[in-house]
Amino acid sequence: MTGVNDIRESFLSFFEKQGHTRRASAPLVPQNDPTLLFVNAGMVPFKNIFTGAETPFAPRATTSQKCVRAGGKHNDLDNVGYTARHHTFFEMLGNFSFGDYFKEQAIQYGWDLVTKEFGLDPKRLLVTVYAEDDEAAALWKKIAGLPDDRIIRIATSDNFWSMGDTGPCGPCSEIFYDHGDKIPGGPPGSPDEDGDRFIEIWNLVFMQFEQSADGSRTSLPKPSIDTGMGLERIAAVLQGVHNNYEIDLFANLIKAEEDLYGAKAEGDHLASFRVIADHLRTSAFLIADGVLPSNEGRGYVLRRIMRRAMRHGHLLGAREPMMHRLTPALIGEMGKAYPELGRAKAAIESALEQEEGRFQRTLGRGLSLLDEATTGLGAGDALPGETAFRLYDTFGFPLDLTQDILRSRGMSVDTDAFDAAMDVQREGSRSAGFTSGDTATDDIWFAVRDKSGATKFGGYAATEDQGKL
Ligand code: ATP
Ligand code: MG
Ligand code: MG
Ligand code: MG
Repeated sequence: MTGVNDIRESFLSFFEKQGHTRRASAPLVPQNDPTLLFVNAGMVPFKNIFTGAETPFAPRATTSQKCVRAGGKHNDLDNVGYTARHHTFFEMLGNFSFGDYFKEQAIQYGWDLVTKEFGLDPKRLLVTVYAEDDEAAALWKKIAGLPDDRIIRIATSDNFWSMGDTGPCGPCSEIFYDHGDKIPGGPPGSPDEDGDRFIEIWNLVFMQFEQSADGSRTSLPKPSIDTGMGLERIAAVLQGVHNNYEIDLFANLIKAEEDLYGAKAEGDHLASFRVIADHLRTSAFLIADGVLPSNEGRGYVLRRIMRRAMRHGHLLGAREPMMHRLTPALIGEMGKAYPELGRAKAAIESALEQEEGRFQRTLGRGLSLLDEATTGLGAGDALPGETAFRLYDTFGFPLDLTQDILRSRGMSVDTDAFDAAMDVQREGSRSAGFTSGDTATDDIWFAVRDKSGATKFGGYAATEDQGKL
């Protein structure tokens, strides 16, 4: 079996052989874009090159870029544990042409890599193109010999990429792998395309236009290429498994969890094991890149991810900090490709241990409160917003954690009432301020911290949909 580490290497060396300069992954905290939460695609570190603001360091490049999609425009947090193909942290493999080669060469490389280098069966592959992109459709026919019914035209923004309201943009073309008719789901463009039978493995973006503020598009004199292939997804295909969480890397992490928690990754527990493995990676990589759990901005996204994982640890029986003890297993899997993990080992372990210890002081009682509050409620019902607020305020449950817990029972939260309770508190804290006083037990101290953070966090939450801080 070809392991994840070998697959990453084959991709990068394939493109190196085709004259691409190999670059290390940029850090997860964007260096060139303060409005973006986390790097969420391979092209992000090269934005200024694509806009022309920066001179390219080489005409062609290839990377395996660390990506986090949790918060902002791309938010896959709620998919983890539910789909076979989403992580909050993943590696995006890419080849880039900065005004060098274009569409035909990009499609040729893509097809050669998947069918020759990786040896995938062409009959399992299908592609999408943007509805108006006749050129791409013709090239797939010519280069790959794909029949028309496996070159699917998509008219939505799924197949038209743009950097923002202005700047470079263009059609894209995605390669899908058919995992077979035993798995539910339809081909791209069909009503059940969100199933996991046809899994998107690679997105090729053809940056050929420049969009101006008035919405008009002009052709770029030197069009560019940006591609992104999910390493874990291609690994699943190459390792003959359907679910990303069954690839070698995750199988080994989950084995380490089984030993640690003394439980089996099966039945009701399976999703917990997967969520912990995913969130462990995200947490460790964010901490290694300098993010620490806090009550605002990036740090609050990290805290939410950690606490979600820790709630799953609780489901597996953890009553003392456990998650930090998985750090060596993660470094064993990924430390060679990402030496920053090993360098940050102590920081990762102590941040995880402290956060879990802190949360465990209130987690059990918060869960009991939630159980009481939902007695008599059923699927389709909403938890009163005041209760969700109390969980947030006194027990350190981020709103999305409460929502995630209720989701498995088919319940939701009355978020309007939650927001109203938050507003009342904000008003109160503005006029009265906080007094820690002599009753400041740990729990109260913690509640105050969450309160003061919550005030700051509100502003961010309000603009989160745009993916801005
Ligand atoms: P999907 O439609 O499956 O959510 P996407 O269209 O959002 O994927 P892109 O933005 O095109 O994904 O990213 C390029 C590639 O990165 C995808 O083709 C996929 O292989 C991979 N990828 C995207 N999101 C994730 C994720 N959350 N976890 C793992 N891999 C991902
Ligand atoms: Mg997506
Ligand atoms: Mg997609
Ligand atoms: Mg895509």
